[in-house]
Amino acid sequence: MSIIKLHDNYFKPYISKEKVEQSVKLLANQIANDFKDEVPIFIGILNGSFILAADIVRNYPYNCEVSFVKLNSYEGTKFSGQVNELIGINEDLSNRTVIILEDIIDTGSTLQKIYDIFRTKNVKTLKIASLFLKPDVFKKELPIDYLGMSIPDEFIVGYGMDYNNLGRNLNSIYKITTQTMTNIVLFGPPGAGKGTQADSLKEKYNLVHISTGDIFRYNIKNKTELGILAKSYMDDGNLVPDEVTINMLEAEVDKNTDAKGFIFDGFPRTTSQAKALDTFLSKKGETIDGMIALEVPEDLLVARLLERGKTSGRPDDQDETKIRNRFNEYNTKTAILKDYYTNQNKYFGADGVGSIEEITNRLSNIIDTI
Ligand code: AMP
Repeated sequence: MSIIKLHDNYFKPYISKEKVEQSVKLLANQIANDFKDEVPIFIGILNGSFILAADIVRNYPYNCEVSFVKLNSYEGTKFSGQVNELIGINEDLSNRTVIILEDIIDTGSTLQKIYDIFRTKNVKTLKIASLFLKPDVFKKELPIDYLGMSIPDEFIVGYGMDYNNLGRNLNSIYKITTQTMTNIVLFGPPGAGKGTQADSLKEKYNLVHISTGDIFRYNIKNKTELGILAKSYMDDGNLVPDEVTINMLEAEVDKNTDAKGFIFDGFPRTTSQAKALDTFLSKKGETIDGMIALEVPEDLLVARLLERGKTSGRPDDQDETKIRNRFNEYNTKTAILKDYYTNQNKYFGADGVGSIEEITNRLSNIIDTI
């Protein structure tokens, strides 16, 4: 189960199908216990409660009846103001036990109107059963006789409930989600200055910086299984296999549950990594906001990397053949990601030549607009 989109909004899984079924069974049994000696009539409030009503009666162990109503509100004469009319009641309800079935009660205003109308129908007993209640916003004095579960004031869909008519057919409950993170892919060939810029940007925007190269180097230094595996690829300037890198990246994101967003540096480097990242983030209701690319001419990069190699201790910075191989990997496997993000209107190029501060300013100007 993952995030779904209904109209213009995203919804994430909230209450499982099993939990809903369990709650409905419990409701049916509680009601049955109280009314086993008579034949109650369940009245579902349309449209939301059609699935609940169907499941309640299917789980009801004794005889029962079911019917549905809908509240129609219309403007009456200028003296009567708004008029509420209950449509769908054909049965004679006098002396009957009536159980109103609601999918969800939030402020309770609609239910109050319906309840007041039923009270004029000479019923013997009038009860209210609801699958969900939002106690934080419920304003009425109505007795909720049977309740499945209380939930916080969140907009939910599924199991009969809709968002502008969509979502009623979902078997489980989803709640609305708004994306809150800022996720940036910092892009560019080896030596473009991604790591340096990420250091400034992470402070400025309070983001978590994930550099897959740094994680690999950390693992190599500590001789972990992952490090031993990655070393042979890295030393020659080849890419580490996607599967290994993707799993590592996902684990790293999952470690940072409170992050306000991420700067991905050195990831994604292949189309399958980019796709995996999209799928992974969308399960969390998140997305990449933009790829920001540092554009630097290749000759300048080779000089920069050889210079860095004098102090970085990185074998892949010290040998021009290895450096050239890294560019080759970049040009054949990574550079096409520019198209991948351009197609999503998420590619932003920045001149990567200049002082560190100048470049940080260029990048910040882009981040501030996305
Ligand atoms: P970097 O520090 O980003 O220049 O990465 C150094 C090396 O780590 C690369 O040449 C690869 O061997 C490996 N590496 C880092 N990120 C990835 C990635 N996303 N996919 C595959 N290999 C990677």
